[in-house]
Amino acid sequence: MEKIRLDKFLSNAKILSRKETVVALKRQEITINDKPATKKEQLVGSDDIIKYKGNIVTYEKYIYLMLNKPAGYVSSTDDPRDKTVLDLLPDIYKKYDLFPCGRLDKDTVGLVILTNNGIATHKLLSPKYHVKKTYYFELAEPISSDKIKVIEDGILLADGYVTKPCKVDMTTTTSGHITLTEGKYHEIKRMFGASNNKITYLKRISFDKILLDENLKEGDFRPLTDEEKQVFEQYES
Ligand code: URA
Repeated sequence: MEKIRLDKFLSNAKILSRKETVVALKRQEITINDKPATKKEQLVGSDDIIKYKGNIVTYEKYIYLMLNKPAGYVSSTDDPRDKTVLDLLPDIYKKYDLFPCGRLDKDTVGLVILTNNGIATHKLLSPKYHVKKTYYFELAEPISSDKIKVIEDGILLADGYVTKPCKVDMTTTTSGHITLTEGKYHEIKRMFGASNNKITYLKRISFDKILLDENLKEGDFRPLTDEEKQVFEQYES
């Protein structure tokens, strides 16, 4: 991390606003490497230990959480009717302005990444980057291999859109995995709907190299590991 001003460091870390930093400095409540800090302009970086009222302030530019979304929650930040995926987080996360990286339908379950890294999210969701997303699905009716081939090659949807080629691996005649590189509204449901079938269960299990943690129960979340964060951090600059 490049060195930044002490007041910016503390406000980015959501500990003190710039005005509050001035007050805290007067009260000698902030230390840098165990020496009282005196100037809000002082530059600090990742090798400095900043304490406010004796507690170490950790600074992360962005937050990344992996959530196992249950059915019944919408993938938005605010909704007049429905519970949102953000309602599954404790209040301490409210201050970080998190949003879901991509949308799952209300009845779809599984992997949702919540972050406040807008630039990387925008890139990862752009069709230009062909990020792979894999879903486990179950169907109402058995499906033939011919129909699967049509879906894999790209299928014409009712609105005239032809889906991009994708990969389908059937486990049984009514269940399997599908990997897409795009994310249109209700895409998987519409793809199977176009061949007169119906998705009865849909669960996202991966996003790029990030796999849904099998230890996470529906409704639970955990921070991404450093390795998982790389998926986002490669788009930092
Ligand atoms: N495709 C769908 O139809 N629904 C989802 O939630 C995700 C992909």
